[in-house]
Amino acid sequence: MSTTTGFEGLTAVISGGASGIGAAAADAFAAKGANVAVLDLNASDAHWSHRCDVSDDNQVRLAVAAVKEHFGGVDIVVNNAGIGAVGTVEENSDKQWFRVLDVNLLGMVRLSRACLPHLRDSKAPAIVNTTSIAALTGLVKRALYSASKGAVHSLTLAMAADHVAEGIRVNCVSPGTADTPWVQRLLEQAEDPAAERARLEARQPTGRLVSPEEVAAAIVYLADPQNKSLTGTSLAVDGGLAGLRIVR
Ligand code: NAD
Repeated sequence: MSTTTGFEGLTAVISGGASGIGAAAADAFAAKGANVAVLDLNASDAHWSHRCDVSDDNQVRLAVAAVKEHFGGVDIVVNNAGIGAVGTVEENSDKQWFRVLDVNLLGMVRLSRACLPHLRDSKAPAIVNTTSIAALTGLVKRALYSASKGAVHSLTLAMAADHVAEGIRVNCVSPGTADTPWVQRLLEQAEDPAAERARLEARQPTGRLVSPEEVAAAIVYLADPQNKSLTGTSLAVDGGLAGLRIVR
């Protein structure tokens, strides 16, 4: 029986890989034997990392050049860095819209653009974008965040179409409320953090928050070189929140 994973010798670049879902993905790729390069505003405690703001095209280009220099190439791109925004269309200013789209949408465009020439040299190229249940539901007071993630979903389909003939697969993962430092911060701001946590858990059909490791496993699955037919798809890891209608 083969003990290889298929990831040995591949290099995975993970934006936002210093925390939460991205950090879990970094651990999961490393456990499979891949080289891991974290691009984040913050340094990674656990993996090779390069400080990079995905809203700055020059920083993204320099970071990808550093990955190429250090590891010799790029095989897998996980576009995961993202920020939140609370509000209706009347409550968020243009400045807030531009900022969130700059990180959540254009950040993924920039990193993909910088990595694509290297992916063309890879024997197992794949891109995985992190979107959200916000792209698929009517989440209250999240107009800007939802629009940014809906755009990531559409971007995934368009990129999958543009690059399928080159053998570059592009997919996205759609987490439900996941137990990450992001959500911890939101809970800390709530009037009653325990009650807010219970509310978030109760709205998931599974009755529990999603773990970052569960989302990471889905990211690894989408990037797995064995899954050659997986492209242009969205994998929900959301406890059934977006898609499951329970009928009794
Ligand atoms: P997190 O805040 O724990 O981690 C996000 C990481 O992204 C941080 O390390 C941060 O430094 C980095 N980052 C932020 N802005 C950046 C920038 N401009 N350039 C580079 N790095 C930047 O968040 P998380 O919960 O792990 O979220 C990761 C992704 O998952 C995000 O795209 C988020 O929208 C998405 N998501 C999260 C949830 C959830 O419930 N946690 C649900 C659905 C989707």
